[in-house]
Amino acid sequence: METREHLDVLPKKPTLTPKAIIHHNFGIKACYVVEEVKEVHQIKCPGLSIPQMGPCLYRCTLQLPELSVISGTFKKKKDAEQSAAEIAIEKLGICTETVDPTPQEAQENLVARICYIFSEKFLLCDHPLCGHIRATLRRKGDLCGSVPISVLAVYDVKLLSLCKCIDPDVESNPFLIISYIMRATANLYQYLATSERHLCIRRLSPYPQDILESLMNEHDSQECITVAAVRIPSSVEQSIEQVTLHISLKEYYIDIIAHELGFEDATNILISRNLGKASSETRLFFTAPKPCLRDLSSKLPNGKETLYLMGSVNVRASYFAGQDITGDAILASIGYTRKSRDIFYEDVTVRLYYRMLLGKTPGGIYKLSREAILVSELPSRFTTRANWRGSLPRDILCMFCRQHRLSEPRFSFHPFKTSSGLSGSCLKVAESDENVIEHVNGVSVTSPKNSDSELFKCEIKLLSRCGDLILLCSPKDGYKKQNDAIQNVSLKVLSWLNMWLKSMILPFEQLYETADDFNIQIFSNNIISEILAGQSAQNGELNAIRCNKLVESTYMNSLDDILGNVVQSLKIEGPYSGVRPCNGSLPCIRYSVSLAVESQNVKEVIEVYDEFEFEVGVGAVVSYIEEVVMQMSVGQCAYFSTNFLAPDLFSASAGDSVKMLSLLSSKDCRIEYEISLIKVAEPPEERMEQALFSPPLSKQRVEFAVQQILESHATTLIDFGCGSGSLLEALLNYPTSLEKMAGVDISQKGLSRAAKVLNSKLVTNSDAVGQWTSVQSVILYEGSITNFGSQLQGFDIGTCLEVIEHMEEDQACLFGDVTLSFFRPRILIVSTPNFEYNVVLQKSNSPAQEQEELDEKTLLQSCKFRNHDHKFEWTRAQFTQWASDLAARHNYKVEFSGVGGSADVEPGYASQIALFKRDWKLEDDVLKRVDEHHYNVIWEWNCKKE
Ligand code: SAH
Ligand code: MG
Repeated sequence: METREHLDVLPKKPTLTPKAIIHHNFGIKACYVVEEVKEVHQIKCPGLSIPQMGPCLYRCTLQLPELSVISGTFKKKKDAEQSAAEIAIEKLGICTETVDPTPQEAQENLVARICYIFSEKFLLCDHPLCGHIRATLRRKGDLCGSVPISVLAVYDVKLLSLCKCIDPDVESNPFLIISYIMRATANLYQYLATSERHLCIRRLSPYPQDILESLMNEHDSQECITVAAVRIPSSVEQSIEQVTLHISLKEYYIDIIAHELGFEDATNILISRNLGKASSETRLFFTAPKPCLRDLSSKLPNGKETLYLMGSVNVRASYFAGQDITGDAILASIGYTRKSRDIFYEDVTVRLYYRMLLGKTPGGIYKLSREAILVSELPSRFTTRANWRGSLPRDILCMFCRQHRLSEPRFSFHPFKTSSGLSGSCLKVAESDENVIEHVNGVSVTSPKNSDSELFKCEIKLLSRCGDLILLCSPKDGYKKQNDAIQNVSLKVLSWLNMWLKSMILPFEQLYETADDFNIQIFSNNIISEILAGQSAQNGELNAIRCNKLVESTYMNSLDDILGNVVQSLKIEGPYSGVRPCNGSLPCIRYSVSLAVESQNVKEVIEVYDEFEFEVGVGAVVSYIEEVVMQMSVGQCAYFSTNFLAPDLFSASAGDSVKMLSLLSSKDCRIEYEISLIKVAEPPEERMEQALFSPPLSKQRVEFAVQQILESHATTLIDFGCGSGSLLEALLNYPTSLEKMAGVDISQKGLSRAAKVLNSKLVTNSDAVGQWTSVQSVILYEGSITNFGSQLQGFDIGTCLEVIEHMEEDQACLFGDVTLSFFRPRILIVSTPNFEYNVVLQKSNSPAQEQEELDEKTLLQSCKFRNHDHKFEWTRAQFTQWASDLAARHNYKVEFSGVGGSADVEPGYASQIALFKRDWKLEDDVLKRVDEHHYNVIWEWNCKKE
């Protein structure tokens, strides 16, 4: 009988790579040899020739039985291999189209496949199943040659895919496959015997004697291997245990695992799918439920599986495996290699179990990626990529989906333009739907013409294995960079999933409510069973039981949110150096976490980290650790302890989990922390503000100014100290009455950035901008704003945002006088930091007790300026004094306002703003004339309409 080679291509599977196709056709007979190719360029100069090393490239030779081909050269090894495979496919004319068999064909093929597996020919080929058949043939007595059906079901992909063609429910209900194999085998009654009681298949006619004899001699020594495995008892009251399997190579290893589970032999053992890394052979071996076979003729609709399993489900193992596991289970990594004479194994420790368990939650994936399991937490905010440590949100999300056997998440982008009209403090956005780009992880995105003013909104879809939409997250926030959009939305989804997984006991209504806050819509009415546990767990009640148990056993770590104040006997040692972390900064600590049992006089170090850096204020570490670090200065060391135990986390972190578990069980066990603050990377001003304000303070300033400008009906504007042109650019997005705008700055760098931004907006993207701006000319001047230049005369409105503090105080005064006396704008808007607010920005700078003793003034004195380039930062009183005097000198009225914080709440606004308005009654005064200073024009744009 024949088997068709291409049958194991699953429906809806993405097209196979060339390598995969070669593998299907040639298996291990395909041999790839990759060699490095150094490209040497000869640089020709007159009379001189220097060989130049190019980048390292790779070429691959693919040897197949029939031919061998060589690829071109590639930067990546894998590209060279794929290319070689592609060439071979073309030369050999291999058909890459795949056809799914009909259920009827699949049924026939299934029978044929089973028949083939028990043929003599099969016993001699390279297939992982051969090892199993050979091992069962070495058994003495009745069970000689009886192969467990679960073994056939998990170690032969073809059987699995054929069963899926017959019945797609096989995917979500692994017990069905056993029934289908059983039914197909019934057709082969003349050739194969089955036993319903034992769930195994045996050949009726014995294999030829010579084959059997050679099998017996295969492992003649008493060679024995020792494999570490983990027992997950069905009862949650019993703890996870380390077990050791002693397997003589003459025996069938599944029999040994069965012994460990309290059975005679392998016949009633079921095997889970492969867990963990795709390359490993880590599986759960567990007890078959009774009854195990399903009535295929009157099959219950998928989901009623729970009825069969009631009572026997192993909650922890099911959660761990993402499929229904019954009875006690053994987690082991062992199997026969393709070269069927060898057994392959790896130790599975309790620690590995807990690490794999941790890897099932977004927070856990993050902790593992940082290798700081006891200290790090999945941050709740993504400020900038530069501050993010550990795996990026998008990568964590992809890993999470793989973990839970969901399809890769889909990211799509909606570029949109900032549009006319102010609404609240947020920019209103107009979506341009025709530009939506669907994009699957890893595939690069072709973005549409993207001017700097365009923002990206990212949307994420989580899909089940079969492509059904489960969850949609589509926040309204726009980001300038596509990457920021992806990372932020990914983090949103992750934060919600993390929160949800930590508190699965929440009733469903509440689940939906919380999702709303995260801009998440849930589409599956059964997200729990999609993401978690046995797919058949559709029974709400059972889910609730499962989840309760899980929360008890797995998510102890969330307790630290509940306990709040857990730090005991905190001591901070070492001299106070004055360098401290503040909101948004990146402290770097050295830490160790130990388990101490006083009665036994032991202290076991569980986790140490020499240089651990994290961003303050985003929840990147366990909250009480951040609290302690905020009280330290560089060079100091803190000691404290907690009573709070998270056994799962400790088990995942500790090297010797057995010893650790025994320590954890003693009553007077404490966790001791030792933390030294090595250094602190200061946040730039903007990042610090960003950490505290949303929208960022810089944006709020611009919006404040825009609002004033809109109300003023001014037609000309000059921005003093325009920097990179953020205000000028923003003004082009609003329907102001402005016709002419100018910017002045002394910084070449800032001006060239401004020119670039404005150019791309006005020149490259002129059509879009033209729709809502009345601006007809924009000009950028280079020069100091303390000089007088007649070019700057005659403007209605002047703005000067966060500039004066960059000049010496006398220069700031000079600027005020020059502007109000020579330029005399109708309105002048000046903003500058409020020094008193630094206490908030750089808060928790002093150790707790110290802070209480210090009076406000001393506290303020310890504050730094927000930016190293600031020459001064004024208190509210100083600013008011300066502005009032200035206004009085030049017949202006002045009003005070600000952004960030509030005028009525101490310490006032974060950014203070003075609004100077020229007194109308004194309109007749004449502009003074002085020695002219000429400003250089850096960039200029004029509307060419009409
Ligand atoms: N107004 C911008 C930039 C603020 S940064 C914004 O709000 O984003 C301060 C700017 O003031 C810098 O670009 C600096 O080059 C500029 N500046 C400092 N002293 C100046 C002077 N004497 N004349 C003109 N510009 C000055
Ligand atoms: Mg500044």
